[in-house]
Amino acid sequence: MSLTMVAAEAAHLKQEARVASRAAPEPELGLAALQRARLPEATALAESKLRFVGPDDTAKPLLAASVRARTATQRVVWLQRAASAWARPIEEVGACRGGCAHCCHVPVTISSIEADLLGRAAGRVPQRPEHAVRLAALSSEEDVTAAQTLLQAIGTGLPCPFLQGNRCSVYEHRPVACRTLVNLDDDDLLCRHADDGPPASVPYADARMFRALALAAQAGSEFADIRDFFPVNGCA
Ligand code: SF4
Repeated sequence: MSLTMVAAEAAHLKQEARVASRAAPEPELGLAALQRARLPEATALAESKLRFVGPDDTAKPLLAASVRARTATQRVVWLQRAASAWARPIEEVGACRGGCAHCCHVPVTISSIEADLLGRAAGRVPQRPEHAVRLAALSSEEDVTAAQTLLQAIGTGLPCPFLQGNRCSVYEHRPVACRTLVNLDDDDLLCRHADDGPPASVPYADARMFRALALAAQAGSEFADIRDFFPVNGCA
């Protein structure tokens, strides 16, 4: 075979390979693989969105009112309002939309004070939670880790008892945890729940300040998952 023929054959084989690769179906990616592929891009996007949003001072007077409030219940109500004010501009650039209820199927830690407020709004009496945590009882890092595990134990995949038709039925009274969970991606891919495997990481806005303030505002409260205060099967 001459060199010319070898070159022609090689070119032909390459062309066949190109056609075959175009015809071959894309391998089907499962949800977990799609989420893993998305995460780096979503994390970078979240950071750039936060730079664009910049600081917002709307929440500050509400936080100050929370600090000045005389009772723990008043502190919590002001804190809930501050959390909504803080989240509003972030939600405008995030992925969260009305009718999307992924975050109503994950653990939602609330305090006994928030449970009372929710119970009053919904006409339900909260029950004594079976898996409650008290801050005063946490004296070591191991205690904190065990408490976090306990609080995360019952929520994943279970709908919140106040979720009705993919809408929050107590929206005006929802806890701080619900007001501060904002996915900064462009869509809900990372919030979706795979049946097999752990939930994906989601580029949520950093709400640690609100979590810390919520703990400090009601340090004597019990904390538990919302479903522990209001069992799902007890929902009207
Ligand atoms: S209280 Fe409302 S927003 Fe929060 S998890 Fe329940 S249904 Fe969702």
